[in-house]
Amino acid sequence: LALIVVVVLAGAVVVARGVSHELDVARLQSDFVSAVSHEFRTPLTSLQQFTAILNEDNEPPPAKRRVFYQAQARAVSRLQHLVESLLDFGRMEAGAYPYRPEQMPVGPFVSGLVAAFRGDGTPEGFVVDCAIDTDSGDITADRDALGRAIRNLLENAVKYSGDGRRIDVRATRRGRVVAVSVRDEGLGIPHAEQQRIFTKFVRGAASRMYGINGTGIGLAMAREIVRAHGGDITVESIVASGSTFTVTLPAADTARDAIHSRGSS
Ligand code: ADP
Repeated sequence: LALIVVVVLAGAVVVARGVSHELDVARLQSDFVSAVSHEFRTPLTSLQQFTAILNEDNEPPPAKRRVFYQAQARAVSRLQHLVESLLDFGRMEAGAYPYRPEQMPVGPFVSGLVAAFRGDGTPEGFVVDCAIDTDSGDITADRDALGRAIRNLLENAVKYSGDGRRIDVRATRRGRVVAVSVRDEGLGIPHAEQQRIFTKFVRGAASRMYGINGTGIGLAMAREIVRAHGGDITVESIVASGSTFTVTLPAADTARDAIHSRGSS
């Protein structure tokens, strides 16, 4: 009898775990749908407002019109970026993303990304420092995809900076791998969240607490891309002190067939 009780209880625990896992997944999915809807709504609202102004009978003067058209263009490109990210992430997870690898030195690649980010992604008052070891070496990578992964880290560093205003980007060679890190002095991530945040749709407590927009796929996508390059991504973080995300990639002379199709993890 005792054995039967133990077996039944164990089964109940397994079933309960299954149910709670399903509930977790369902909750994550519904959070995701509302987060995505919210992300779409903001640019759609500004498109609607600027279109309404431009449609009014007493049209604004040409100089003003230009400002409104530019705002419309920004909203459209934000929507386009969102849709493309979602579609590409789906392809990546299915192992169907058409990666186009090329060998390149990591230094100019990373400093180019930082320069572009300073130009269009860094709000007033932020310092983005970039230090590249001269011998950081070559990698074999798809520029667009890996660029997107690192850009996601830079965007998060800004989004979750709290009062921090400094981001440090580093590229170094460590034996057979090349490491690219993005460090911020922001909100930090509680230990219990540090592994979960790489799972798609998962958003940390800070994002809710501070009302920070997002969909919870940025880090999942970054990890998907980096792993497809034969590398990995890790985080070290202290709450209220900051976070460092480190991408490691095989150095090109050690990478054999680095990019491969893979299913979701
Ligand atoms: P999103 O930013 O859209 O929520 P991400 O997948 O990019 O999605 O990040 C998942 C979660 O990880 C975030 O909701 C946030 O809680 C946490 N996070 C990511 N980057 C940082 C960072 N640099 N500092 C603090 N928390 C971060």
